[in-house]
Amino acid sequence: MPDTLSPPVTDVVELTRALVRCDSVTPREGGALQLLEGALGTLGFRCERMDFTQAGTDDVANLYARIGQDKDGGGRHFCFAGHSDVVPVGDLSSWTIGPFSAELSDGYLFGRGAADMKGAIAAFTDAATRFLSKRGRDFGGSISLLITGDEEGPAVNGTVKMLKKLAERGETIDVCVVGEPTSSKRFGDMMKIGRRGSMTVDMVVRGIQGHVGYPERLDNPLHRLSAIIEALVREPIDKGSTHFQPTSLQFTTIDVGNKATNIAPGVVKARFNTRFNDLWTSDKLLAHLKQRIEQASAAIGGNGVVEYTNVEVSGESFYTPPGALVELVAEAVREVTGVEPELSTTGGTSDARFISRYCPVLEFGLVGETMHKVDEKSAVADLKTLARVYETMLDRYFVA
Ligand SMILES: [Zn+2]
Repeated sequence: MPDTLSPPVTDVVELTRALVRCDSVTPREGGALQLLEGALGTLGFRCERMDFTQAGTDDVANLYARIGQDKDGGGRHFCFAGHSDVVPVGDLSSWTIGPFSAELSDGYLFGRGAADMKGAIAAFTDAATRFLSKRGRDFGGSISLLITGDEEGPAVNGTVKMLKKLAERGETIDVCVVGEPTSSKRFGDMMKIGRRGSMTVDMVVRGIQGHVGYPERLDNPLHRLSAIIEALVREPIDKGSTHFQPTSLQFTTIDVGNKATNIAPGVVKARFNTRFNDLWTSDKLLAHLKQRIEQASAAIGGNGVVEYTNVEVSGESFYTPPGALVELVAEAVREVTGVEPELSTTGGTSDARFISRYCPVLEFGLVGETMHKVDEKSAVADLKTLARVYETMLDRYFVA
């Protein structure tokens, strides 16, 4: 029976359960990092809390832990990165098992964060434990865990600031593996070598409000917007590139708020988001889209104008080209699971976009099918296999 006097666990299943029991919905620390600090400290990691505050944002707790040679003592530095925060549980009544109960049932471990991504953090720890028991602390390099409590939130006081702090004191990372749940249907079937960029554009289309019975006296911004949408979505933005899907653009809202049946509105607001590949930077893409918009608007004629009220880029696209790190990770997956991982750049953004500015970074982890959903779960067997895969990466990276 576990009790408060038990030494910190590093077994992947038990550690995942202990982490899931911590309610660390962003931005709460929930005891998750404290627990991890205990486990890693026992292994000999030098643990450092990197908590950040910024006016107007939530305070965030982060943990950086490193073992092996000190600051660039000659050896190479392998970093595992991830996040201990989780998304809210949503409708609690639709969960069949308590989201923070970490129950085992039918070969699965249930709970918020089981897949995204407390299981991977536990697997990092389990892998490091096994690696260190074989090789000792003087294995000729260093291993670190860079764990943020702010990935599912605004991602302002987490990975970005941790990396900046490390860089400022001259600490460099040679390669990084992020433990996001990248497997698609079956464990090991997919790893991410990059991610698309994301940009959200808010615009306002202004026309002339008027009585619908006198169309010659008005300039309907809805009609103008309709032509603009058509111009943005009719022709594909590109055909995709070697490692990326075609850039996609989706309108997410159109707001008029007009209750009258006999008045054409004077103003309409609209917003779209685009996920763009490596053929574009956000600047280049925005210029291209504005050109399409202006052309469509000009073709309508009249006095209507388009204003861009906000442009938010949450990340540029990036990728780590096939090479040494991609091979290392793919071989570890193949060796342990017998599955050939697809090299993908699909899905949303992740903190890997920040890490890519400093070193080659890849993402590999559990099956993500239930992430962010009710009854989030991971197969117990997958958790154990993931720990073996991470251990194999270390074995292969730090050849004895
Ligand atoms: Zn995640």
